[in-house]
Amino acid sequence: MSDCIFCKIAEGGIPAEIVYEDDQVVAFQDLNPQAPVHILVIPRKHIPTTNDLREEDAELMGRLHLVAKEIAMKEGIAEAGYRTVLNCNAQAGQTVFHIHLHLLGGRPMGWPPG
Ligand code: AMP
Ligand code: ZN
Repeated sequence: MSDCIFCKIAEGGIPAEIVYEDDQVVAFQDLNPQAPVHILVIPRKHIPTTNDLREEDAELMGRLHLVAKEIAMKEGIAEAGYRTVLNCNAQAGQTVFHIHLHLLGGRPMGWPPG
């Protein structure tokens, strides 16, 4: 999608610190990290929110989690623990309307989340 910042990152049109990419998934450092490790894992496919997911996206969403797990292992946070978050729409605080899985770790996480 032409005016989507995460589509542009996935296409290489906007710079980002990319830590992983394949034909379906891209992962990059969050610009405003909320934890020592804060990486965003996105599908190349433009899907605005989790409300827009279709049956055909089931495998793709699974791949986001598999990539997040691999990155967590590489970052050395898998054993201690980490959090993956998908914000959907206003009350969850979603600000970029291209699905992104937050991978957060490297410090204790509070619960309930804010
Ligand atoms: P959310 O609130 O779930 O929509 O999260 C959007 C995330 O994208 C925030 O954590 C932002 O810091 C991050 N972000 C926004 N623009 C960029 C960018 N150009 N590169 C990397 N991360 C970004
Ligand atoms: Zn997009």
